[in-house]
Amino acid sequence: MKRNYKRQTKVKLAVYGKGGIGKSTTSCNISVALAKRGKKVLQIGCDPKHDSTFTLTGFLIPTIIDTLQEKDYHYEDVWPEDVIYKGYGGVDCVEAGGPPAGAGCGGYVVGETVKLLKELNAFDEYDVILFDVLGDVVCGGFAAPLNYADYCLIVTDNGFDALFAANRIAASVREKARTHPLRLAGLIGNRTVKRDLIEKYIEAVPMPVLEVLPLIEDIRVSRVKGKTLFEMAESDPSLEYVCDYYLSIADQILARPEGVVPNDAPDRELFSLLSDF
Ligand code: ADP
Ligand code: MG
Repeated sequence: MKRNYKRQTKVKLAVYGKGGIGKSTTSCNISVALAKRGKKVLQIGCDPKHDSTFTLTGFLIPTIIDTLQEKDYHYEDVWPEDVIYKGYGGVDCVEAGGPPAGAGCGGYVVGETVKLLKELNAFDEYDVILFDVLGDVVCGGFAAPLNYADYCLIVTDNGFDALFAANRIAASVREKARTHPLRLAGLIGNRTVKRDLIEKYIEAVPMPVLEVLPLIEDIRVSRVKGKTLFEMAESDPSLEYVCDYYLSIADQILARPEGVVPNDAPDRELFSLLSDF
């Protein structure tokens, strides 16, 4: 009998963080950085905002949930090309989408997305799959991508709210790590030069910090232009230094770090740790 030598996905990343902190921007640029290192990458937007892959494709691609609704939930009528779009640098892009506003469950949508992609055998083709997930509320639904991931990356700034969300995510990772081979690869600081609160936090809850990116006007502009920094750097080589941040993160991930199973600080402890009183 012939054996089926299917290619196994090598790294599954889940990028979490507070809304608006820069998850999608960071995810798209990390995806391109991984592609530049020769990896075949799939980025899955799991935020109901469904703009995760915008800077990769330059437009808002149709979501899985919209496509499924259109096909009356007949999975067998959905083709990979209906839901997987080519982005810059050869990165493949999927948007899970969200439930109707004020109704339904975002986690259900993530579950349906994974189910459909598995039915399309889409998971086996990739070296890296990156889930870009909203991390304000890590309810069971939004924690679902952690069931499929090897590594969690948290994007935060140097402020209380994002670190508070980071701590909730750390708690979810610890919980999932009981039953899954999941590790926290670490924090990515974004839009900040100050890192005193980040340092305070990791003293209480030890975890690696992969990079800290400052506020860079060209990153803000990249969102408006619908381009990653790598695409912008093609016509403006002065931006290559920004790409280097993302390449460094990609290289650290590809080195398969040991990562940590974090402890998390109790909420009240975190309040006093990160406040002046
Ligand atoms: P999220 O996915 O976490 O909701 P986004 O990636 O959409 O956040 O980022 C929110 C906004 O912040 C975007 O306009 C983006 O261009 C901008 N942004 C992200 N990171 C930076 C940065 N380091 N410097 C300047 N602007 C940034
Ligand atoms: Mg986003």
